[in-house]
Amino acid sequence: METPKTTLPPLAGMTLEELYQVVKELDMPRFVAKQIAQWIYQKRVTTFGQMLNISKANRELLEQNYRVGLSHPTEAQRSEDGTVKYLFDVGEGKAVEAVYIPDEDRHTLCISSQKGCRMNCYFCMTGRQGFHGQLTANQIINQVLSVPQAEQLTNVVFMGMGEPLDNLEAVLSVISILTEPWGLAWSPKRVTVSTVGKTPELKTLVEKTSVHIAVSVHTAVTEERQSLMPIERIYHIRDVMNMLAKYDFSHQRRLSVEYIMWQWFNDNIEHADALREILPDEHTRVNLIRYHMIPEVAKLRTSSDERMTAFRDYLNSRGVICTIRRSRGEDISAACGMLAGKVGSKK
Ligand code: SF4
Repeated sequence: METPKTTLPPLAGMTLEELYQVVKELDMPRFVAKQIAQWIYQKRVTTFGQMLNISKANRELLEQNYRVGLSHPTEAQRSEDGTVKYLFDVGEGKAVEAVYIPDEDRHTLCISSQKGCRMNCYFCMTGRQGFHGQLTANQIINQVLSVPQAEQLTNVVFMGMGEPLDNLEAVLSVISILTEPWGLAWSPKRVTVSTVGKTPELKTLVEKTSVHIAVSVHTAVTEERQSLMPIERIYHIRDVMNMLAKYDFSHQRRLSVEYIMWQWFNDNIEHADALREILPDEHTRVNLIRYHMIPEVAKLRTSSDERMTAFRDYLNSRGVICTIRRSRGEDISAACGMLAGKVGSKK
């Protein structure tokens, strides 16, 4: 692979439209754009020399003006449960994380969309580091194409560092690359975008793509959510769910709700009722998530197994599809809310 330090613009991360522009500017035939896309996204080559159906002269021209733009992770940490956390260099001494999660025949990669995050959720390690810049489409798709398990991946979830809808343009480009026939040609059902609920961007995402949506709710009680997630002061979760209720999530795509459980904070039956009230319909799934303590947030503790089970059973008994998500990669700080990368600290 190339060194990530080169300053030439990368082609990996470009949509077919953008590649058409590239070949036009270099005075190459239009079909070369599709060939480049096939070599990078389908045949997964990392150098221009490997693009054998492109003429030598055109390969040299490409090499003088661009780089393929793929780079391996710089570090890997392996959990005893098979989860692997990868660190990717994103320049200026910063790095972001992607997490590979094998689960029988599912091979999921959880990817990052920003260097840090500006949503400032109280319980999240990434949020506590502040915002240090957007990832480009190249830096996002590179995570998918460059982990050692790239060929085995069955699913991608935008649940790593950052709020994907705070970087909508790049995330839409990456979704195109993942799902269009000239890209990886995956079904959109293999892609999930998780969000705290930036309503205008969420509406755009729902209308422009068919990917699954996961909304981080964590409590349906306004004051509590405001204390945990500043976004609630701008977009109320009830309004976010009302907006989503206008779209069809009954067949081809899934709407799910993420709910981290904190003992005595959001795990009473009253909380289950408040959550039930905001769900658009019986197709919305609820994922209950154990809280993984970070030192900065010692006052929040995960709910006990008994309380989580009672919460789940109560929702199930009222027709809500609710499951407790199995925790993965906790021993390598790869579980939900624990990703830190190397982006610095607010403190
Ligand atoms: S939970 Fe998500 S949106 Fe909130 S601070 Fe962490 S990364 Fe950002």
